Order: sequence, then structure tokens, then C-alpha cells
Amino acid sequence: MRSSFHGGRERAGRRCGRWHAGRVTSPQVPQRPAVQSLPAYVPGARADLGRAHKLSSNENPFPPLPSVRDAVARAAGALNRYPDMFATELVEALAAKHHVEAGSIVAGCGSVAVLGHVLQGFCDAGDEVVHAWRSFEAYPILVQLQGAVSVPVPLTVDGRHDLPAMAAAVTERTRVMLVCSPNNPTGPAIGHAELLELLAAVPERVLVVLDEAYVEFVRSEDPIDSEQVLAAHPNVVVLRTFSKAYGLAALRVGYAVTHPDLARAVRTASTPFGVNHLAQVAAMASLEAEGELAERVEAVVAERERVAERLRAQGWGLPESQANFVWLPTADRTVDLASAAARQGVLVRPFAGEGMRISIGEAAANDRVLELTRAWGGA
Ligand SMILES: *Cc1c(COP(=O)(O)O)cnc(C)c1O
Repeated sequence: MRSSFHGGRERAGRRCGRWHAGRVTSPQVPQRPAVQSLPAYVPGARADLGRAHKLSSNENPFPPLPSVRDAVARAAGALNRYPDMFATELVEALAAKHHVEAGSIVAGCGSVAVLGHVLQGFCDAGDEVVHAWRSFEAYPILVQLQGAVSVPVPLTVDGRHDLPAMAAAVTERTRVMLVCSPNNPTGPAIGHAELLELLAAVPERVLVVLDEAYVEFVRSEDPIDSEQVLAAHPNVVVLRTFSKAYGLAALRVGYAVTHPDLARAVRTASTPFGVNHLAQVAAMASLEAEGELAERVEAVVAERERVAERLRAQGWGLPESQANFVWLPTADRTVDLASAAARQGVLVRPFAGEGMRISIGEAAANDRVLELTRAWGGA
């Protein structure tokens, strides 16, 4: 399928533009096969339906904190200036948070963009990137855009990374391994001990990217201590985002933590001024309000536990989610059930033939979900 992150909008723009006049012949410019054959990035359905519950993109259901909103409003007076190119204040605050030097942090326009810059920094054409599948759908797209080759390793039956199989998939051509914990879209987190075993089995020349987009929601017994991992393994990059627990999805800010030598390569590949001024200000204000934000994360975790327990009581077999979403194994019924849910005002993220990812929202939204799943019957 020919598509991309932006496919839909490009087509819409073309319809409205002057090219539509019909005087222009088709372009003869060849396109890269890697781009033409890209899988579609399917964004979560948007809530145009007015009162719909939008549970399709794993966003934070809470509106921004007043302190964050005020900081952004004040910063709006300086929009005529370029932002601080290196997001200096934010980078310093993040370095302090993670107990590393500022040279270890690279901020970018969402952690997806940072991951793209990581791949640009370390992969040449034909290099292999090992990752679990199904996992975050941006992975194969970013890998292919870079001209590298995706090596997907199937999840276990309970939706976990098969770490021994991932280690076994490493070849001479492997440059990067992507590890997503908790895994989007299934939810399980990797344990600290298992991760250390993986790192011991993977050659040190392979860059291991640990994508921790949902780390704030983890309540498992052996959570990954990424600070310790980074200190012991100079081939690791940790990715974090302000889009989920911090509730700043609209502003696009994420970052990498890694050895300063590797950080330099990621910085070199980064878009200049990639973190806009409002995003820098909002991220700073959010770091100052971490206590308040943590209470909201606790509320989401409590709802996740309630929803998972109720779903199991309804007869659904679920992977153990440590994120702000649950995975419902609806198999062949997925598309029909997701459409039915949308008609009833609940937007979920279907994966045809496999299952659906349902974000944890406010209690009322979660109650609606539980009514629907009860009517659908467990699986
Ligand atoms: C949501 C998500 C991200 C965050 O992306 P941003 O670009 O920072 O909004 C990264 N990785 C995974 C696995 C995600 O689900």
C-alpha cells in the first residue's frame, strides 16, 4: 500500500491546490521504491464525533495542568523568534533527572523523530534492525525510510518480546535492535533481569534502543532500571516522551538518553530547532509539576487495573498490560467490532485480524468500554 505518515493530508492538499487544474502532466520523477512500498502509519481515529471517547492513541485523558497552560500562554509572545536550538534548559533539567551529563541527552520533535535520527545516525542501506512484531508501527516505517532492513521477531503468545529469539536474530549486518517496554500495542513490560540477559547476549557493536514511552505506568515486580542499564552498557539508547504520562502529545517533544559519543551522532542527524519553543516551555513546566502529574498517572494505573480485572471476569484473555492501554484479542471480529464501537461513540485502535488496543480514559469512558466488551462476549 502506498502511504506514509502524511499520506492522507497530502492528497487532501493536492485536491485543493492549483495542480488540480488538469494542465499539468504526471510527474516523471522517479520515487524511491522504499518510500513507495511503505506500510501505512494508521493514526488513532480522531474524535470528530463531538462526544466520542477517544481511546485510540494512548493519550493522557487529563487536560494540561493550569501551570503548564499558563507557561505556554506566556511563551506565545515570543513566537517570532527561533527556539533555543539545543533546548538547553530542558536538556539540563533532563540530565539532572536522569543523573547524566547534558551531553547524554538529545531532545527532538517527539521520540518518534528522535528514533528516526538514531537510525539516520547508525544505519546504512541494507543494515539490519531487529525488533519485535507486533510492536510500535512506526518501527518498520522508519527503518525502511532509512534504507535499512526490518527483521521482525514474533511476540510470544502472551504478547511479550521473545528476547532469546531476538538475540538469535542478530547477524553481521545487524546495527540496531529496538526493544519496546511496555510494548505497544500489547502492553507487557520487560523485566530488569531479562533485559540484562539480552544485553549480555547481544554483541556490544549492536546499538540497543530501549523505547520507554510508557515507563511511568509500569508497576511490575522487576521494573527496568534504565539508569543502571545505561551506566553499565554504553551501546544502549533510552527513548522517553512527554506525549503520554506528561500529557503533551500536541506539542511533540521526546528525547534520548545515551553515552555522549552516541548522543553526538544523534544530534548531528537531528532537525535543527526540532523542539519548538512552546514545547520546551511546556516540558520544563511539566518537570516542575511532576508530583501533580504523578497523581494523574496513578489514577490511570488504577483504572487500568480495574478495566483489566473486569475484562478477565468477562472471559477475555489479556496480555498483562503495564501501560495506559489494554489489548483485546478480537481476532477476525476486530474490524467489525471496532466499527460498532465507533458508532457507539468509542474510538479504539483496531489491528485487522489480530485485536484492538484500547487506551485507558476517564472512568466514564472505561465504563462504556466495559459495557461494549460484555456485549461482545469474551475471547
Ligand atoms: C506513543 C509512542 C511513542 C511516543 O511518540 P512521540 O513521538 O514522542 O509522541 C514512542 N514509542 C512508542 C512505542 C509509543 O507508543
